[in-house]
Amino acid sequence: MTEHHSPAVGAGTRIGDGTLAVRAGLPEPVKNEPTMPGPVFAAHFHLPGDVEGPYTYGRDTNPTWTLLEQAIGELEAPGEEVHTIAFPSGMAAVSAVLLSQARTGDTVVLPSDGYQALPLLREQLEAYAIQVRTAPTGDDAQLAVLEGARLLWIETPSNPGLDVCDVRRLVDAAHAGGTLVAVDNTLATPLGQRPLALGADFSVASGTKGLTGHGDVLLGYVVCRDPELAADIRRWRKIVGAIPGPMEAWLAHRSLATIHLRAQRQWANALAVAEALADRDDVSGLRYPGLASDPSHKTAARQMRGFGSVVSFTLPDRAHAERFMAALRLVEDATSFGGVRSTAERRGRWGGDDVPEGFIRFSAGAEDTDDLVADVLRALELAGAGTEA
Ligand SMILES: *Cc1c(COP(=O)(O)O)cnc(C)c1O
Repeated sequence: MTEHHSPAVGAGTRIGDGTLAVRAGLPEPVKNEPTMPGPVFAAHFHLPGDVEGPYTYGRDTNPTWTLLEQAIGELEAPGEEVHTIAFPSGMAAVSAVLLSQARTGDTVVLPSDGYQALPLLREQLEAYAIQVRTAPTGDDAQLAVLEGARLLWIETPSNPGLDVCDVRRLVDAAHAGGTLVAVDNTLATPLGQRPLALGADFSVASGTKGLTGHGDVLLGYVVCRDPELAADIRRWRKIVGAIPGPMEAWLAHRSLATIHLRAQRQWANALAVAEALADRDDVSGLRYPGLASDPSHKTAARQMRGFGSVVSFTLPDRAHAERFMAALRLVEDATSFGGVRSTAERRGRWGGDDVPEGFIRFSAGAEDTDDLVADVLRALELAGAGTEA
C-alpha cells in the first residue's frame, strides 16, 4: 500500500488511499456541527463594514467549494500545499488553463488524439492568433513539436485510444525550454496518477467521470503548486463566471468518500474484461494500459498507480458493434465513463474521433466481476451469430 501524509488526519500521520478518500476535505470537528456540512446556497454573505474575510460574493468563493477543493487537492497531492480551483465542468477547467495562459503570438502544443472537444478549443485559440501544434500521445511524439511553446497539453491515458506518454520525460524537455505543462488526469483519476508528482505544472480533469463516478454530476478542476498560476486560474473563473453550483460541489465531495472503493472494483473489472477479450478472433485493437501485453504497459506501470476503468477494442464492423451493444444487459449504451454502472458505446457514432466504425469504448463499473465478464462474452457470442436477442 502506498502511504502518504494528509492534513485530514494530522501532520506526520501516514495513511493509505482508502483512509485519505473517506477523510478528504473534512473540516475541523466542531461540537454539534455536522461532520460533513451540507451545501451552502448563498449568492452573497453578510458583509458589514470593510470587504474582508473568505466569503463575500458567491461568484468568488463558497464554503462548499472550499471543502471540495481541499479534498481534491489532498487526493492529487497528499501532504502538499497545492491550490485547487473547482469548475462546473471538465471543459471549463481545460479552457481556464489554456485561455488564461496562452496569449496572442504564443504557441500551444495539444495531443492530436485527445478529448473530442480539443479541436473546437483549437479553433478558438487560433482565432486569438495563438499557434497550435499537435502530435500523437504515443511514443512521446509531442517532444518533436515543443520548441518555443508556452504550454504543453498532455492527455494520458488518451481518450479514447488509451495511449500513454512518459509524463516525466515530456515535462523535463518542456521545462528545459521554459514551457509549462498541463496534464489531463480525467481517465486515471487522482488515485490512478499524480501529475504534479511527475513534475507537471497543472493537473486538470473532468470530475464528471471516475472522480465522482455516479453519472449524475458535471464538474471540473485545476490543481497547481504555483500561487501565481493559481491566481491566473482563479481570476479566469471570476471573469468568465464558470463556477460550480453548491449542490454539484457537495455531491462531488460526497462521492469522493467512495472513490477508493469504486476505483478498486472498477479497475479490477476493466482488467478482467480486457483479459477476457485478449485472445478472441472477433476483437482487434484491444487496449488497456494494465494488460502486460499492451504497448503502453511499461510506461503506464512506471507512472500510474492504477490503470483506470476504460478498455477500448474494435469489432469487425459497424453492424457487428451495434449488435454487441444491443445485446448487452448489464452495460448501458451511453457516453462518458468512470461510473459505477458499466457503460459502453460505439464511439464512431459521434464523428469526432479518428476511430474505426467497429470501435467500442468500454467503461467498467462496479458490478460483480463474473457477472460483467459473462454479460460481455454473451453479447459477443450473440453479435457474432448475427443476432442481438
Ligand atoms: C469528459 C472529458 C473532458 C471534458 O469534461 P466535461 O466534464 O464533459 O466537460 C475533458 N477531458 C477528458 C479526457 C474527458 O474525458
